[in-house]
Amino acid sequence: MDLLSQTGIRRLVAQGLSLCRSRVSVCLLCLARCPPGPGLCAACMASLPMPTWSCQRCREPVAAGVELCACCRQRERLFAHCIAPLVYTCPVSGLIKRAKYSRQLLCVRPLVSCLQQALAAEYGEGKSQQPWPEALIPVPLHWWKLRCRGFNLAAFIARRLGTQLDVPVLPSHVRRLGSTRNQQGLSARARQANVRQVFSIKKPVRCRHLALVDDVLTTGATAESLCRTLCAQGVKRVDLWCLARTPGHEYRPTDIAKD
Ligand SMILES: [Zn+2]
Ligand SMILES: [Zn+2]
Repeated sequence: MDLLSQTGIRRLVAQGLSLCRSRVSVCLLCLARCPPGPGLCAACMASLPMPTWSCQRCREPVAAGVELCACCRQRERLFAHCIAPLVYTCPVSGLIKRAKYSRQLLCVRPLVSCLQQALAAEYGEGKSQQPWPEALIPVPLHWWKLRCRGFNLAAFIARRLGTQLDVPVLPSHVRRLGSTRNQQGLSARARQANVRQVFSIKKPVRCRHLALVDDVLTTGATAESLCRTLCAQGVKRVDLWCLARTPGHEYRPTDIAKD
């Protein structure tokens, strides 16, 4: 290696080290320089879409003053308490897709941070607050999908939450038996039929209260199928924690909280 290329390499290393020491990172959305943290600058973090009003049971964004969405008014949900702080629309959908399909796992860090804040507000020691679950279960992928994708984003989120909240994670206690058809384009009734009996217990789950962790909540049919399987094993209460909730057809971006 000649002297010139050695000098060039040294300069590059020095520049890299100085960037590391300056403790500055780049925003995942607008590429502006920002302090190290969840990965978004303050402006992009504040622009993440959160619903002003959402269904008390499934967190679907609803019109102001409405307590339950049309689906939850018709029937009970199997999960006890649902948290999904963000609306699955731009730029949240883009960040989740980058993590899921391009394996840019850093992209979910700001979203996990929003979920943690929502959990801190809902769970705790206070009288009106929810009790913390004994363990977390990531919604599993079918083994073939896991093999193709190489990782389960729900498991990544559950591990991160488990470490931060000091709650154990049970990553391999349930198995997804069947490969469900792509849920997109199916009606809510067709989705229910599509995911019925697709989970089985791999190891005994000795908890009374669990939280399922997933990236996106669409209709809740997948989570309810898993709830059914767990409750048949003696689990008394299952909560559902997701990064984002898909909005209904009538959703308008003006329903997003501005503050
Ligand atoms: Zn930004
Ligand atoms: Zn609902």
